[in-house]
Amino acid sequence: MKSYRKELWFNTTSRRELINITSHIKHCIVESGIKEGLILVNAMHITSSIFINDDESGLHQDFETWLEKLAPEKPYTQYRHNSYEDNADAHLKRTIMGREVVVALTNGELDFGPWEQIFYGEFDGKRSKRVLVKIIGE
Ligand code: ZN
Repeated sequence: MKSYRKELWFNTTSRRELINITSHIKHCIVESGIKEGLILVNAMHITSSIFINDDESGLHQDFETWLEKLAPEKPYTQYRHNSYEDNADAHLKRTIMGREVVVALTNGELDFGPWEQIFYGEFDGKRSKRVLVKIIGE
C-alpha cells in the first residue's frame, strides 16, 4: 500500500470565506501516483472546516446567512469562550460544517456524485491555516 501526505495552506483576506479546493486535491492525487484508495481531507484548525457541497454562489450566501443565525459573530460578549478570544462563533460554525471529508479514489479520480466539490470553510481567517491531505491505496 502507498501512502501520501501533504499540508495545504490558506490565508483568507476576510474573517469568513468558502474556497473550492477541489483542484488542489486533484493535484495531490496526481502527485501521489495512487489510483485506487481513499482520500482524507481535514482542517487542522478548530475554527475552519472541510465539507462537500455545490459550487453555487447563492448557496454560499445561504450558508453565511444560516450560520450567522445559528451562531452570530456579534455581540462577542454573548459567548463565554470570548473572555479569552473573539472567535466562539467560529468554533460553533466549524462544528456544524464539519472537520473532514473522506472521498473514494477510483481509477485516479475523485469518485464524486453530481455537483460534489470539496470546500475549505474559513470562519476565523486573516491568518495562515493548514489543511491535511492523506491518500492511501495502490
Ligand atoms: Zn477560540
